[in-house]
Amino acid sequence: MFMYPIFITDDPTARVEIPSLPGQCRWGVDRLEGFIGPLVQKGLRSVILFGVPLKCEKDPRGTPADDPQGPVIQAIKKLRALFPALFVATDVCLCEYTSHGHCGILHAGDGTIDAAPSAERIAEVAYAYAQAGAHCVAPSDMMDGRIKAIKRKLVDGGLGNKCLLMSYSAKFASGLYGPFRCSSVAAEYTLADVLLTDAIFSPFFFFSFSFLYSETQQEAPRRLVTVNATSFHPVPRALPAAHL
Ligand SMILES: [Zn+2]
Repeated sequence: MFMYPIFITDDPTARVEIPSLPGQCRWGVDRLEGFIGPLVQKGLRSVILFGVPLKCEKDPRGTPADDPQGPVIQAIKKLRALFPALFVATDVCLCEYTSHGHCGILHAGDGTIDAAPSAERIAEVAYAYAQAGAHCVAPSDMMDGRIKAIKRKLVDGGLGNKCLLMSYSAKFASGLYGPFRCSSVAAEYTLADVLLTDAIFSPFFFFSFSFLYSETQQEAPRRLVTVNATSFHPVPRALPAAHL
């Protein structure tokens, strides 16, 4: 299924060109109708939302991620109301909202990932998106146990059969995705990190896999890993390995 990625930011009237993705923009909630409407009329059936908070106050637990007034939840509600037949998926992660830029919650002492509360926090965010009306939540973090935690939360909340859980099943780090990763904003990222770390490419995965496959066949893959093989985060605080 083709899924159109929408970068949704917290200025309701924003329409900001993304230099690394010519013709693509970060959008504010108030712009969605005019932007998506014509595409839906042309046959677009699915989108995936990526929150790009630029004004929120980030903190160590990523509190703004599930702010009811935040751009993602507002966009979910708006799209569901405007386009009832549109399938709305949402990326789920904390790194856009944490002050340290990681996808989870850190141990206070050494700055390593504290897995259990990280998974629980990510599950909270996913559940909030599902409650807002998302048909699908797609966690792009790499916290151990977060799929189980999200599924448990959805089931216990009565949304287990109403909201899909899509795990990003594979990751490729490639210059191909650098521009896409640049479209979202997380703390402490540099272009080098972008080229080395890459998860928020899944919308492209659906229609560019064959291209990637041929690319990796022609040259040694720079990085070809699976989710399970990389579900670790014993990383120093200074290393912005949010999507390793
Ligand atoms: Zn992340």
